[in-house]
Amino acid sequence: MIAIDERGYYGEFGGAFIPEMLHSNIEHLRKHYLEIIHDASFQKEFQALLKDYVGRPSPLYLAGRLSDHYNTPIYLKREDLNHTGAHKINNTIGQIILAKRLGKTRIIAETGAGQHGVATATVCALMGIKCIVYMGAVDIERQAPNVSRMRMLGAEVRPATSGSKTLKDATNEAIRDWINNPVDTHYIIGSVVGPHPFPDMVARFQSVISEEMKWQLEEKTGKPNPDIIIACVGGGSNAAGAYYHYLNEKDVRLVAVEAAGHGINSGESAATSVLGTKGIIHGSRTLLMQTDDGQIVEPYSISAGLDYPGIGPMHAHLIDSGRAEAVSVTDEDALKSAFFLSRLEGIIPALETAHAFSALDKIKYESGDVIVVNLSGRGDKDLATYIKYLDKLGNG
Ligand SMILES: *Cc1c(COP(=O)(O)O)cnc(C)c1O
Repeated sequence: MIAIDERGYYGEFGGAFIPEMLHSNIEHLRKHYLEIIHDASFQKEFQALLKDYVGRPSPLYLAGRLSDHYNTPIYLKREDLNHTGAHKINNTIGQIILAKRLGKTRIIAETGAGQHGVATATVCALMGIKCIVYMGAVDIERQAPNVSRMRMLGAEVRPATSGSKTLKDATNEAIRDWINNPVDTHYIIGSVVGPHPFPDMVARFQSVISEEMKWQLEEKTGKPNPDIIIACVGGGSNAAGAYYHYLNEKDVRLVAVEAAGHGINSGESAATSVLGTKGIIHGSRTLLMQTDDGQIVEPYSISAGLDYPGIGPMHAHLIDSGRAEAVSVTDEDALKSAFFLSRLEGIIPALETAHAFSALDKIKYESGDVIVVNLSGRGDKDLATYIKYLDKLGNG
C-alpha cells in the first residue's frame, strides 16, 4: 500500500526538517490542511475555479498518428491546455484558497522554468494578494517570456544570484524570506517537495489529473485503468497528479522520466533517481544528488523545469520500492521528441514534457497496451531553444 503516514513519510522518505523559526507555521499547516481541504466550501470554490478559470476537465486525447507510429494506443492528458499552459495552476489555485483561509496577506514562491511563478502570479492577481517570486538569475535569462508574464501580472521577480543561480538557489531564497516573514506570508511551493505537509498537499491538488483520467479512459476504452502512465519528473508534481489514483492499482505501470542532460555519466545531468543518494534537501528526506560529504551537486538539464538536484519523497519511495520505473532522457533526445510530436500531432510540448515523450522509445510494452502520457505543458516558452536547435541542424 502506497500512502503517506501521519508524520509525512512515504516509507523512509519525507518528514519535515525545518528551522525552528518556521516550526509553528508548518505545524499549524500540518494540523489543519486536511480539514481545510476537505471542507465543503473549500471544495466548492476549488472545483468552480478549476472548471471556469483553469478550463478543466483537460481533454484526454487519443493521438492517432503517434499511436500508429508506436503501434499501440497512446492517449495524451492535455494539461498544456490549462490556463497559463501547464499543470502548475491546479496547485496554485488550491494553495491560494488555502492561504486566504489561513489569513495570509503575502505570497512568495520559487520558480525554475517560470511556469510555477506565472501560475502563482496569476492566482495572486485573481485574489488581489501581493506576490514575490524568487528565480535564479540564469533562469531569468533563459525564460524571459515568463518573467515578462509575471511582471505583467503585477508580481515582483527577485533574482537568486548564489550557487548555480537556478531553481535550488531560488528555493533557498524563498525559504530565507519565509523565515523572516512567518506570520503574514504563505509560501506556495510549486512541486511535491519541501517539508510535510507540502508534498502531500501539492499531490492532492494535482490528483485531479488522474481523477479525470479514470472516467475519461472508462468512457473511451471501457476501462478506467491504462497499462502504462508516463510523466516527466522535476520535483514530481505532474507525475504525482497523474499517478495519484493509480498508486495502489498494481496493474498500472508508472514510468517516471528524468533529465539526463548531456548523459548520465557526463557530470552534467539531473537524473536524481540514478545518481542520487539518501539525504535531506529543502526540508525533506529524499533522494538527491550530493557529494560524499553531503554537498549538493549542481544539476544540469536543458530544461529549466527539470533542473533540480532532488525529487519529491513520494517518487523517491516509488522508485526505491520498485513501484515506479525510472527512465532518463538526454537533452538531445528530448529535443528530437519535441520536434517529432510537433510535426506528428500539431502539438508543441514544453521541453520538460518532451522528455516524457522520449521515454516511448525506451520502455518495453506490448502492442495493444494503453499508454497515457501526461502532457504537462505547452512549449511556447521554449521556442527560442527549439529554433536554435533547428538552426544548428540547418534544416526544417
Ligand atoms: C514545472 C514543470 C515540470 C516539472 O515539475 P514537476 O513538479 O515535476 O511536474 C514539468 N513540466 C512542465 C510543463 C512544467 O512546467
